[in-house]
Amino acid sequence: MKKLLILCVSILCATMAMAQDTYLHCGKIIDTKSGKILTEKTIIVSGNTIKSIQNGYIQPETENDKTVDLKSKTVMPGLIDMHVHIESETNPKAYLEKYTLNDADVAFRSVGFAKVTLHAGFTTVRDLGGSGVNISLRNAINQGKVEGPRIFTAGKALATTGGHADPTNGNRKEIIGDPGPKEGVVNNVNDAKKAVRQRYKNGADVIKITATGGVLSVAKSGSNPQFTIEEIKVICETAKDYGMHVAAHAHGDEGMQRAIIGGVKTIEHGTYMSDETMELMKKHDAYLVPTITAGKEVETKAKIEGYYPDIIVPKALAVGPKIQGTFARAYKKGVGIAFGTDAGVFKHGENGKEFGYMVEAGMPAIETIQSATITNAKILGMEDQLGQLKVGFLADIIAVDHDPTQHISTMEKVSFVMKDGKIYKQ
Ligand SMILES: [Zn+2]
Repeated sequence: MKKLLILCVSILCATMAMAQDTYLHCGKIIDTKSGKILTEKTIIVSGNTIKSIQNGYIQPETENDKTVDLKSKTVMPGLIDMHVHIESETNPKAYLEKYTLNDADVAFRSVGFAKVTLHAGFTTVRDLGGSGVNISLRNAINQGKVEGPRIFTAGKALATTGGHADPTNGNRKEIIGDPGPKEGVVNNVNDAKKAVRQRYKNGADVIKITATGGVLSVAKSGSNPQFTIEEIKVICETAKDYGMHVAAHAHGDEGMQRAIIGGVKTIEHGTYMSDETMELMKKHDAYLVPTITAGKEVETKAKIEGYYPDIIVPKALAVGPKIQGTFARAYKKGVGIAFGTDAGVFKHGENGKEFGYMVEAGMPAIETIQSATITNAKILGMEDQLGQLKVGFLADIIAVDHDPTQHISTMEKVSFVMKDGKIYKQ
């Protein structure tokens, strides 16, 4: 059955290829592998893949083919954001919406967030936690029913009781409940296994754990360790059985160390990371996902009276301003950096701001783009299909008006977006 399906898809692709190829005339191209900028190339896209890349501006062979003039632009692979929450977006009523919105409300709203994310040049995202609507959204996008990025989703994030992603934190006693592994709350190794397998069954692609307290949960600590090493190890081993990697939200150093030793692939935020932990990350081949934009945003919003519940304000003011400095230290020390923003904590579509903050903290522009393409593709296990402009790769291609190595803010205004060979913005 599967073979037949693949055959049908390839015949369909072949037919489409005959029908129309797209010739992109590119003034500048970023080779994310070498970090070099090449000039005057033509990328020929056939179906959803890159068919060839040639020197100079090649004219189409048949009149069915289409030419796109990107001669004044800088062209690069579609960007990948390793940390978004595509279902939701910050607003002053967010804490009430938990009790007022149905899944359908969340779903309709997420459609808009998906679209602006794609139009900002992010053709792939890793969604690190929502209610599960993110799984349906991924499917709808894959089926071409909704316009949005390719999504790798965690479904619902895993927490411990009272931990950062415990969905009933802060509720009054009649509705505080006692969520368990099915709802993503674990308190021992058996729960941990069950919770991972449940995510797999629900359709998740990756596992997210909240290894320490967090800023935006209705709870006191923003940094305490919240899982034991044994629980984290079991989560990572079980996830591996199902072909999933594990991302760990972490601000505090102890929880971060446990997560790295336990086997997680990425540390999200990393706020209070010590030098020792940075060495540990290098040793275990773990990556830091900086989310500097989110840090800046929570600091700003915490200063608006009543925007966040009172218990969150001091955490936001303490954690927010520290994130960019930690990123600067980690980069300098040689920790692997995986571009990620935490979009949803700020407005979707503003993901490109992160590039400027990374450059400001000492990472060369070209490396920020490599982080958002080739590095992230590798972490997602998509290094043979995404992250480079290369023959046979998926045609996820974007363009900006200026050379980002000269003007990094150009990454905030992506002017051309192609995903899977289809043009979404021009
Ligand atoms: Zn997040």
